[in-house]
Amino acid sequence: PSLFTDVELAAPVVIFQLTADYKADPSDKKINLGVGAYRTDEGQPWVLPVVRSVEAQMAIDPLLNHEYLPILGMPSFCEAATQLVLGKDSPAILQNRAGGVQSISGTGALRLAAEFLFRFYNKREKSTAVYVSSPTWGNQTAVFKNAGFTDHRTYRYWDADQCALDYKGMLEDIENAPEFSIFILHGCAHNPTGLDPSHEEWIGIAEACKRRNIFPVLDCAYQGFASGDPDVDAWSTRKFVELGFELLVCQSFAKNFGLYNERIGNLCLVMRDSPTLSRCRSQVELIVRAMYSNPPNHGARIVATTLSNPALKQEWLDNLHTMASRIKAMRHLLHSKLRSKGTPGNWDHIITQIGMFSYTGLNASQVEFLRKRHIYLLSSGRINMCGITTSNIDYLVESIHDAVT
Ligand code: PMP
Repeated sequence: PSLFTDVELAAPVVIFQLTADYKADPSDKKINLGVGAYRTDEGQPWVLPVVRSVEAQMAIDPLLNHEYLPILGMPSFCEAATQLVLGKDSPAILQNRAGGVQSISGTGALRLAAEFLFRFYNKREKSTAVYVSSPTWGNQTAVFKNAGFTDHRTYRYWDADQCALDYKGMLEDIENAPEFSIFILHGCAHNPTGLDPSHEEWIGIAEACKRRNIFPVLDCAYQGFASGDPDVDAWSTRKFVELGFELLVCQSFAKNFGLYNERIGNLCLVMRDSPTLSRCRSQVELIVRAMYSNPPNHGARIVATTLSNPALKQEWLDNLHTMASRIKAMRHLLHSKLRSKGTPGNWDHIITQIGMFSYTGLNASQVEFLRKRHIYLLSSGRINMCGITTSNIDYLVESIHDAVT
């Protein structure tokens, strides 16, 4: 017998299972509102034109090769990524106390953050509490668990009755958290709700975190993808930096560059001073060395080349705008069609939410009903706006109408 006969079969990862079910469905009416990726109005994946042209250049550049990158990644990439999120003129950058580490996309940045914090921050307390929003993207807790953290908690975020932010509840949970707890915050375009705090609310959140000496980890997987403007989407992160926090930012270039499978991200460290940054980066270097030795090149080269060339950067901003605009257009179309059909319920949250996802407020049995109509979404009622196109929206609206009436 195998040495592994006792190994139990793990449950499939829900979101990947949903896509597999969708693919297997022969219906020509089927709609996939589950997948976490951008789609064109033709329902197709989109390689950003700027990425295509940079890749074409890379393919014939005689100076490029397949040598190893440094352990901490491509320096020009780390610098460009850090500037993108903190802003070129960020005092933290000018004071040499902010720096990046190339990571295996956003998940890898979270993993590095968790490893680093478990070893070097957790010492403060016997077991530091790690807070995530309720609800959140489930992998945040899984990653922090795998790094060794044991005290996992949630802070209130989504008010299901109002389809709005439970701001009061969130503040209370921060105020009642043990001092020095770690809070994972979504920098913009909260996944799964699509609901972000206002600027005023962000300031209130940051001030409460300050009072409790909270350590913020900003999970920024959608910078620029949400509003179409990377500066607008980095507002909350920059506010925390401005207020003097030491913090970590987990960046992903999956969505905003459409580089999902290239696994390109950045862990941005903002520390009190330059020597602290150097010491911390040197420890992250040891973590990377033992985990995967050094990161891949392709995505880093694309992002670094694009962001460091003004013409290419402008082209990228235009591409971002294309994606964000299509998403916003679908939000407005869905909202107006549900309204004009007289579908019961207040659907205003669909247009106030931001980014790729929307918490529709549909419940599990309504989701089940939609599934019978070949419409695939998570039982929480979360939909990816990119799954909606001008050709499938009427069928979708009709089905949502039937599901709620
Ligand atoms: N954080 C959040 C909140 C996300 O939604 C995602 C993407 N699903 C990520 C991090 C990281 O994704 P990736 O590893 O593909 O960059």
